[in-house]
Amino acid sequence: MEATGNSTVLITVSGHDAPGITSELTGILAESQVNILDIDQAVIRDLLSLSILFEIAPSSTVATSAAATEKALIKDLLFKATEMGMKLEFRNLGPAKAPTPKAYHYAVTLIAEPVSAKALHEVTAVLAKFKLNIDVIERLSEGEFGCVEMLVSTTQELDRSELKKQLLSIARQQSVDIALQAEGLYRRAKRMVVFDMDSTLIQSEVIDEFAREKGVYDEVSAITHEAMSGKMDFDESLKKRVSKLKGLTTAQIDTVYSRVQLTPGAADLIHVLKKLGYKVALISGGFTCIANRLKDQLGIDFAYANTLEIEKGELTGRVILPIVNAQRKADLLEIIAQQEQIHLDQVIAIGDGANDLLMLEKAGLGIAFNAKPVVSEKAAFSISQKNLRSILYLLGISGRDLSELLT
Ligand SMILES: [Mg+2]
Repeated sequence: MEATGNSTVLITVSGHDAPGITSELTGILAESQVNILDIDQAVIRDLLSLSILFEIAPSSTVATSAAATEKALIKDLLFKATEMGMKLEFRNLGPAKAPTPKAYHYAVTLIAEPVSAKALHEVTAVLAKFKLNIDVIERLSEGEFGCVEMLVSTTQELDRSELKKQLLSIARQQSVDIALQAEGLYRRAKRMVVFDMDSTLIQSEVIDEFAREKGVYDEVSAITHEAMSGKMDFDESLKKRVSKLKGLTTAQIDTVYSRVQLTPGAADLIHVLKKLGYKVALISGGFTCIANRLKDQLGIDFAYANTLEIEKGELTGRVILPIVNAQRKADLLEIIAQQEQIHLDQVIAIGDGANDLLMLEKAGLGIAFNAKPVVSEKAAFSISQKNLRSILYLLGISGRDLSELLT
């Protein structure tokens, strides 16, 4: 007969959820002195599916065999389940064996409005192709099917860049944002978020607004284009553009500030991050005269940007050195993290421009937000949702958590 190993049994109970089901079933298991090895349940609408894996030790003192114990136990469980109007299925999985260690864990997040069955199918097909097992799948959004998180694992080393490439191609075709992150303590233990300002935290480019106010929009825009085509470096182009703003008054700066539109979800996102104890920084290639006000308005901890020289209430057309360019943005991120004793893996950076790339690379999680293709291709993640709140899903924060945090 059966030699050594303890017998393991998996039961799955399904039916209408009601309080007390788990308590009744575990009560029976407790009486039989089995060891529970695993338990998992899911409730969709009011339908419950509860699975319990337990082991029955062969009795050493009494003559009754493990098989007899199991038979009696299953009978009791089936009887109780029927009484509660539930369906119970069981399977004997044979002798207990140590679970195979799964060395690599990842979180895959899908965000769309809503996530289509096709997108879900294509993503899970790619995960299967890479031999990734889905351990947990959960809807994070409240209300509509806007965000699904899958925790996946594999025992084999993963070609992450190839997987990312295939997921990105689905993302483009199916209009869904897909993020792949290593799952572990650092994903859930993020402590600082760094934002770019123009076209990330706010919807406009402040320098364009200043230029409009001063009536030099076309001239400034021509320099911007020249810089973007790579004919001029950032510092030089910034100095040149700022020189066109000479004479802009502080009153006009106030007017521009009053017109600044925050990106949808920006205020909520910062409010939630602050409530959760995150440090929030604004690191901008734009200007302190706007960045500092946003810092106060939104309760941001640190703001760094370029300072425009002002004399007698007017811009002189000069920018005070050092200029906050791509390298300086990345350096500032590192300096703040060091000061706050936050590991770079615990930092999230969000930006849209080419001058954000170094900063996005430096952070544990770099997110290209509604970015130009050149940026979204290079960044670890790319979000094309218009609402900044979707960033919270990447931290595993659900819609329900969010409603709680916003009240
Ligand atoms: Mg920007």
